[in-house]
Amino acid sequence: MAAPMAPAEWRQSLRAEGVRFTELDGWTARGRDQATGKTFGPVNGVLNHHTAGRDSLDVIAYRGQSAAVPPPLAHALLRKDGVVVLVADGRANHAGLAARNSFDAIVNETRIPKPSKASGTVDGNDHLYGLEVENLGNGVDVYTRAQYDTWVRFNAALCRHHGWGAGSVAGHLETSVEGKPDPKGPVEGYGRRGRFTFTMGQLRADVAERLAHAPSWSPPTAEEAPTMTTPDYVNLGLAHGYQLAPGEWDDVEFTAEWTDEANDHAPNSPTFVEGPAGFTGSVSFRFEHLPAGEVVQVRMSEYDAAGALKANHPIHEVIGTEGGTYSVVPLTKRIGSGRSMRVRLLNQSQENVEVATAVLTAWVWEG
Ligand SMILES: [Zn+2]
Repeated sequence: MAAPMAPAEWRQSLRAEGVRFTELDGWTARGRDQATGKTFGPVNGVLNHHTAGRDSLDVIAYRGQSAAVPPPLAHALLRKDGVVVLVADGRANHAGLAARNSFDAIVNETRIPKPSKASGTVDGNDHLYGLEVENLGNGVDVYTRAQYDTWVRFNAALCRHHGWGAGSVAGHLETSVEGKPDPKGPVEGYGRRGRFTFTMGQLRADVAERLAHAPSWSPPTAEEAPTMTTPDYVNLGLAHGYQLAPGEWDDVEFTAEWTDEANDHAPNSPTFVEGPAGFTGSVSFRFEHLPAGEVVQVRMSEYDAAGALKANHPIHEVIGTEGGTYSVVPLTKRIGSGRSMRVRLLNQSQENVEVATAVLTAWVWEG
C-alpha cells in the first residue's frame, strides 16, 4: 500500500536520480480522478509504454486517444532527447485492464507470467504509474541512448521512493488482456553496452543495478581506447672505424645516419636520443685489436642541455676474443625533458683498440 507521490516528491526523487525533466503547465492538477470518481492509488508499480507515434505530448496531455479514452494518457512522457515531461500526477488512462495474475506478480515482485484474462482483471489505472516512451513502436525506430538512460533512472526513482525493487517495473505487454505489444524496439545503447533489443527483463536488470547504487550513480560508459603513439625508428652507425686509446671514457660519435625518425641525432654527434622520451633497442660493436681476455666497458650516460654529464647508467663489459670481438649491448631507458643520451666506451686494455663498427638501432617514443 503506497500513496502516489506528491508533486514535491516527484521533483525530489527525479532530481536525486539524475532524471532531466520539465513540468507541463497544470500537471499537478491533471488527472481523471474527479471525472471517474475514482482516486488514484494505492500504487503498486510502474507500467512502461511506447507512444507508437511522434510528437505525442499533445495527444497524451490534451487530446486523448478517443472519446472513450480521454487524456491524460500517462503520468509522464519520455522524449527522444532523454527529457521527461511531467504530464499528470492524478489518475491517467494508460493501463486499461490488467490481468490479475500479472498484476499480482507486480505487487509481489515475483516473475510476471503471461497475462491471463481468465485469472480476472484489475483496473491498472487505479494502481500503476504510467510512462510513455516516445517511439514509433515499429521495431525499427530506435530508443536513443539518452532516452534509455533516463528510462532506467525514471523507473528507479519511483521504485526508490516507494522502497520497491525492480520487480515493480512492468511493461504494458506484460499486463494487457488486449494483447498490447509495447514497449519494444531497438535501443541505441546503455552504459558500456552497444545497440540491443529492448526487453522488459533487461530494463528490470538495469533498474536493479541502479537501485543497488546511490541515486547519484551513473552507469560506466565505454572507455576510450588508449591512443597508441607510433614509435620512431632510429638507426645510426659509423662512417669509418676509429682508434680508441686506453684509459678514458670516450663518446661514440655516430657519423652515419641511416634513419632518424625521432630527428634527435645531430650530425657527427654522440647524442642518439633527446628527452622526454623512452627508447629501446641495442648497439652492436665490432672491436679489432682488443687482446683476448681484455675488457672494453660500455655504458649509457645522460647529459643536460649544456652538455654536462648528469648520470651514468650501468656498465656492460665486452671481453676480447681472438680474431675480432663482437658484442650487442641493450639500450632501454626513459629520459626526462632537457636530457640527452650518449653511448660511451672505456678501453681497459693497454692497447689501442679499433672500434670497427658501432650500429645502433632503437625505437623511440617521444614524451
Ligand atoms: Zn501501452
